[in-house]
Amino acid sequence: MTLECKHVWEHISEYLDRQLDPKLLMDIERHLENCEVCSAILDSTRNILVLTADERTYELPLGYSERLHARLEKVIREQEQSENGPA
Ligand SMILES: [Zn+2]
Repeated sequence: MTLECKHVWEHISEYLDRQLDPKLLMDIERHLENCEVCSAILDSTRNILVLTADERTYELPLGYSERLHARLEKVIREQEQSENGPA
């Protein structure tokens, strides 16, 4: 099964929490090796999680993942723009 970027984003918080099943984890890691966009997203998502992980609580507020996805789309758009625009 070929993983699309969308699938990676859906599972990215589980990935960071190491809650994925091993097969999916492997698929995602393989995708990340070949996809700069997802690698960049992984980095920024990790930063968000660090910021929100107060008192070592990983419970995400309601609606968090929707906001996260909106943010991811923004990151991707910016990435595309910076790739197309002048350096
Ligand atoms: Zn990707």
